[in-house]
This record gives sequence, C-alpha cells and structure tokens, in this order.
Amino acid sequence: MRFCSVTSGSSGNCHLIETGQHRLLIDIGLSARQIEKLLKERQIDPASITAVFVTHEHSDHTKGVGVWMRRYRVPVMATAGTWHGMQRMVGQVPGELCVEIRSGKGYRMSDLRIEAIPTCHDANDPCGYAVESGGNKVVVITDTGMVTPLMQRHLAEADLSVIESNHDIDMLMNGPYPMLLKKRILSNMGHLSNHDCAQAVTEALRQNAKGIFLLGHLSEENNKPELAMNTTLTMIKERMGKAGAGSIYLTKRECSTDVFTI
Ligand SMILES: [Zn+2]
Ligand SMILES: [Zn+2]
Repeated sequence: MRFCSVTSGSSGNCHLIETGQHRLLIDIGLSARQIEKLLKERQIDPASITAVFVTHEHSDHTKGVGVWMRRYRVPVMATAGTWHGMQRMVGQVPGELCVEIRSGKGYRMSDLRIEAIPTCHDANDPCGYAVESGGNKVVVITDTGMVTPLMQRHLAEADLSVIESNHDIDMLMNGPYPMLLKKRILSNMGHLSNHDCAQAVTEALRQNAKGIFLLGHLSEENNKPELAMNTTLTMIKERMGKAGAGSIYLTKRECSTDVFTI
C-alpha cells in the first residue's frame, strides 16, 4: 500500500490511499483544482482516482467533492447523515455515483477492505476510515472529540495512521475564539488536543512499536506544528523511552507529505 496526506489542517483535508487496484481519496476539503494541483506535484494523475470516501459534511472535508464527481465520475461513499449534510455543498451530481455506507461497517472492494469507524464530532453521522489490503492497514481518524476503544484498537493495528492533533489547550483558551466555540472544540464532540493525540499515539505504540503516525488537522489559530510534534514526542519519551520517536510525522497544509510505502 502507499499513502500520502495530500493536505491536512483546519482549512482543508484530503488523503490518498493506494492499493494494487485502487486509488482512494479520503475527503476533498479544498477545491478540486487545488487537490488536482497537489496530486500532480506528486506525479499522481487525478483521473486515476477510483473512489472517494467522505468523513463528514464540514466544508474542510467536502469543498471539492461535487466538482470532482462531475469531472471524474467516480463513486463517492458517505453515511446517510453526511450525504444529507453536504447536499448543498456538493450540488447536482449523478445519483448513481452517490453511495451510502454505514458507520461501523466494513466494505470489500476488490483488493481492499474499508471500514467506517464512528467518530465523536458535531456533525450528522461522522466517521474515520480503516483500509486494509495485502495484510497492511492504514487508518485515518480526525475530527473527533475523544478516542474510543474501537479507534484505539484500529490505531494499534495500523501500519500507518493519521490522527488529529488539533489544538494546544493553552493556545485555544488564551486565543481569540468566543467561549462557546472554545467549549465546542474542547468537548467530547469537538477535536483532539495535542495532549489527547499524544496519549492515543503513545498507547498505540505500546502495542505496536512499528506504527507510523502522522499528526493531522492542526488548527491554524490554536496550534503550532512544533508544539504538536513536541507534545507527542515528549509523552512517548516519558512513558516509553526513545522507542518509536522516529515514526512520527506532521501532515502539512500547504503541500502534500512524502508518499509512504508500507
Ligand atoms: Zn475538519
Ligand atoms: Zn469537522
């Protein structure tokens, strides 16, 4: 399998997962044109994408979905609640390309199996995804206010995971957001803090020291890349010694990550 985080952050999200027979995008949260440009920079032909999976209806995950469907005529999978929530954003699209999936269920597509993992977020029916192929596994979990035991199990089993490291709690609390929004972000239906992320990664590494972790969905306003990275690395070091520190990476907002082969 190959993986590339095309873009990730509070302003837009898109990840590429490749197996022998499929090239999937998880979310298209920038314009289709911007995603095409980022893919081409990695020598990936946008027309070679075979399917798109959407995590939830927020615009930083769905902005380019409608144009992509009309341009490339690929099937898009999302839960019923997400389809309902993103109707306006997506606009008129061919009905036969809109595929409804269920959170908590697994689906087989030729050489891969994909499972929608329920997340805890203020959206209609949000999910993350776990994709397995040829004995390898990639997990994408962002936009969740807490890490459930099911998520933790997937993270421990994955060869590569994207996990949300959204905000630094002090930066958020001392920042300019209104209190209501701060409370929403901090709640169990909001986003994972750097500390929450560090805990989940450390726990997963304890069970699977070979895992690669990409810290994603960093807030532009309430986080700094070095703060996210340091929080996770410090906790790993404190609780486990140095093991695993080399396999933590940051996703990027302005460009894609390297392509990882697992
Ligand atoms: Zn988001
Ligand atoms: Zn969201």
